[in-house]
Amino acid sequence: MIPYGKQFVSDEDIREVIKVLQSDWLTTGPKVAEFEEMFADFVGTRHAVAVSNGTAALHCIMYALGIRKGVEVILSPMTFASTANCVVFQGGYPVFADVEADTLLIDPEAVRSKITLKTKAIIAVDYAGQPCNYDALIDIAKQNDIYLIADSCHALGAEYRGQKAGSIANLSAFSFHPVKHITTGEGGMVTTDSFEFAKRMRRFRNHGIDADFRKREQQGTWYYEMIDLGYNYRITDFQCALGISQLKKLPQWIRRRQEIAQRYTRAFADNPAISPLKLRKDVSHAFHLFVVKINSKNIGLNRAEIFSALRKEGIGANVHYLPVHLHPYYRQNFANDIGDCPVAEDAYQQIISLPIFSAMSDNDVAAVIKAINKVTHFNALS
Ligand SMILES: *Cc1c(COP(=O)(O)O)cnc(C)c1O
Repeated sequence: MIPYGKQFVSDEDIREVIKVLQSDWLTTGPKVAEFEEMFADFVGTRHAVAVSNGTAALHCIMYALGIRKGVEVILSPMTFASTANCVVFQGGYPVFADVEADTLLIDPEAVRSKITLKTKAIIAVDYAGQPCNYDALIDIAKQNDIYLIADSCHALGAEYRGQKAGSIANLSAFSFHPVKHITTGEGGMVTTDSFEFAKRMRRFRNHGIDADFRKREQQGTWYYEMIDLGYNYRITDFQCALGISQLKKLPQWIRRRQEIAQRYTRAFADNPAISPLKLRKDVSHAFHLFVVKINSKNIGLNRAEIFSALRKEGIGANVHYLPVHLHPYYRQNFANDIGDCPVAEDAYQQIISLPIFSAMSDNDVAAVIKAINKVTHFNALS
């Protein structure tokens, strides 16, 4: 089975991890700071704060912004549940704004229509690895004096008008789960230009305590204070060693993902059953996912039938995502229902994510194309 996504860990990566395991620091040591600096450099922000996973990164952001009871945060429903969960962790109210049909990125006009006096932030999700319409979103954020947040967990290495994903919004979140562009096993990062936000998040990831153990050791002092309620969202030094080693290979990995996407796009161009999502003109797409819509009307087969036919052919297709507002938890606790985001709901009936990852071979790509042609009864030569 060719999976939809898969990590690549080299011998060099493994050596870097072992070095740290043999050193004095297993957690919150020099590798955390080194990874943060390298990441901030890559993305082009002043600060990067490393945490234990992408969900923790989003939670840190909500804390830094002061999201609390009585506050609303507008977000896209085409995302992983934790984008919304992080709002709820802090007592905020998630408000879902619909997406654009051709890209499945949050629709700025839908965002505008959801703004109230309680709105404090917008979370844009760079779905599949394509940056959102940031010019429009920045305008809305400025006009309403609210924060713009990017869930860029799909978009490490992507660019919007020449600017790297992670450097556009006030704060941006990344994940290093094994299916993402680079991995640390579990891991996450927040990028921001704000020193104040970075400071608050460093405290939040460490129980709300103002200095970490290493700093105390350097200062030769036993004293510490807990300033606010925080969590243990720390990442280990050996994970960061893996992250540093992986990040070095990211540019070539992105190029490989873009190459695979191009092959798919060309191969499906004449197939009436398959439509890849639209590529925006002003972006460099990082292709965490390659999402296609199944045009059921054109072939008389629905998404579920295509999905299981692909699985039978050994293609580990997947579906990203059931729109978050439709999860039972969000229906029961936040008065969401079918019909709230009709574009996302309609797209959900049609989408399939095809395998794409940096270590995918040309043979694997050809096998996916062949399987798609077979299950959609498309004769590529005709
Ligand atoms: C992966 C992902 C997350 C959560 O990251 P974890 O590291 O798994 O906690 C959040 N949002 C999006 C869009 C993601 O893809």
